Amino acid sequence: MNPNVLIIGAGPAGAVAAALLRRRGRSVLVLEREQFPRFSIGESLLPQSMEYLEEAGMLEAVQTSGFQPKNGAAFVQGEQRAAFDFSEKFSAGWGTTYQVERARFDHILALQAEAQGAEIRYGQQVVAVDVARARPRVSVRDQNGQGYEIDADFLIDASGFGRVLPRLLDLETPSQFPVRGAIFTHIEDRIDFRSFDRKKILITIHPGQPDIWYWLIPFANGRSSIGVVGSSDLLWNDSGSDSEILQRWVGQAPSLGNLLEHARWDTPARHITGYAADVKSLWGPGYALLGNAGEFLDPIFSSGVTIAFKSASLAAQAINRQFDGESVDWETDFARPLKIGVNTFRAFVESWYAGGFQKIIFFAGAPPLVQRMICAILAGYAWDKSNPYVQEPKRRLAALEALCDPRD
Ligand SMILES: Cc1cc2nc3c(=O)[nH]c(=O)nc-3n(C[C@H](O)[C@H](O)[C@H](O)COP(=O)(O)OP(=O)(O)OC[C@H]3O[C@@H](n4cnc5c(N)ncnc54)[C@H](O)[C@@H]3O)c2cc1C
Repeated sequence: MNPNVLIIGAGPAGAVAAALLRRRGRSVLVLEREQFPRFSIGESLLPQSMEYLEEAGMLEAVQTSGFQPKNGAAFVQGEQRAAFDFSEKFSAGWGTTYQVERARFDHILALQAEAQGAEIRYGQQVVAVDVARARPRVSVRDQNGQGYEIDADFLIDASGFGRVLPRLLDLETPSQFPVRGAIFTHIEDRIDFRSFDRKKILITIHPGQPDIWYWLIPFANGRSSIGVVGSSDLLWNDSGSDSEILQRWVGQAPSLGNLLEHARWDTPARHITGYAADVKSLWGPGYALLGNAGEFLDPIFSSGVTIAFKSASLAAQAINRQFDGESVDWETDFARPLKIGVNTFRAFVESWYAGGFQKIIFFAGAPPLVQRMICAILAGYAWDKSNPYVQEPKRRLAALEALCDPRD
């Protein structure tokens, strides 16, 4: 039987969209290329994301799965240290969240979507689409190489970096961000510093090259995700395997190197490059793009899963209204509201790499209210228009940066 909604990809965007549509009685089929559980990068969530897990009926399953609680973000550069506690944020809403192994997290969300009646077929790769028809049609290749076609009333692309519709429909447009890459792995961290706070992601800036930064995301089981990010030219300026290169970079940041002095590097490192992506349009007749299939900015503020959830929530609302016979303007009802938060994060990412936000982070002199507003963005509340840093992120950040260094 052909579903109301066909979703490409069972990652966070696809699973949450599936559950939200099922909650309104729509029939949903999700086609997923891989078998779950499968590895994915993107392990540090933001408190704002909890709202969407709640909306999708998945909160309890996540809360009872033993993931590492997270309450903030810590930053280190040389001798400078700063920490943001999300409970002090300006915006109302969740102040805590989790640091998650994505293989398990994504599997839990997919199982939750299935429990709510969505059908998920694994090992099914979408290879072609026809959106010129009254009902979009997708061509699928199953794990045995057999092809088949499915029609749906509406098509959601939640294929992440697979970017199925952007590629097939020529929707891709270059990201404004330069090509950066990341090398990462999971380690048994063996951190024995009493003062180390496992409830915070630790962002360390390279002491001599502020364009290079590291994440350390502790999990609940004594393991951590560790990664280094920078322009591809810089990251791979030396020979060796990804594991060797990653450990070499970690050794160049003394505070991080000391923290991980006893770590067991037991898992080969992986890498990803050129992940920043954009599209000409986030929707078209009969389809919408969610999460990374639409746009991906940068990993620095751990915003990816939150944006994926937000896009799922907005799209599900629009589809439900459309199926109820209401008129939906996808630009006004989906793309524009989504871009409010994306553009907030974009301004913060730009300021980070231009150096301004790195100054702001370590500046202790900002008024407490301003610190709470910044904290709210770091907690993912990038759509809260009562926050001036959402209303006018660029201008506000520039003004704050000037305050950090009055001699400039
Ligand atoms: C280096 C790095 C670090 C990051 N760190 C963070 C972080 O700390 N926190 C955070 O929130 N985000 C982070 N992100 C971003 C995060 O990884 C993504 O934003 C998030 O996974 C997007 O979810 P999604 O559902 O859109 O896509 P995905 O999670 O990628 O899911 C897409 C699914 O679609 C499937 N698929 C692809 N092609 C097809 C096809 N043709 N047919 C069928 N199925 C298909 C894939 O197998 C996959 O399961 C990071 C990203 C990078 C690059």
